[in-house]
Amino acid sequence: MIKKDGFSFSFDESKCQHCGGKCCIGDSGYVFLNENEMREIANFLQLEFENFTKKFVRQIGNRFSLIEKEHISGRACVFFDDESQCTIYQVRPKHCRDFPFWDIFKNNPKGAFRECIGVIKDES
Ligand code: SF4
Ligand code: SF4
Repeated sequence: MIKKDGFSFSFDESKCQHCGGKCCIGDSGYVFLNENEMREIANFLQLEFENFTKKFVRQIGNRFSLIEKEHISGRACVFFDDESQCTIYQVRPKHCRDFPFWDIFKNNPKGAFRECIGVIKDES
């Protein structure tokens, strides 16, 4: 069980085995990443940085996000495969590694409960 300061819930990562990767599916969110992360993923995939960004990244305002693709579950992150695995897991962006401990959920734990079956409300 993982607990982080400032959050009113804990996270049971064992639930990921039974979840089907809900946090990687859907078309309503973004997978934000910075340039260093893009370079790291490009390197992992053995792609030139420009080719990687053209193929897999879109700009959202002054930020960058991975694109989505059609998936057996509907829409999903472009790196989520049909076996519900992240194909860049070792180099996934901080945005993914931090989930469900996102700042937006500090004051909105209900949002985290809705998004993730591994989120457990702390006893008060
Ligand atoms: S939604 Fe939660 S339980 Fe499901 S894969 Fe993502 S982090 Fe794991
Ligand atoms: S990069 Fe990996 S962990 Fe992050 S949303 Fe895409 S498939 Fe999921």
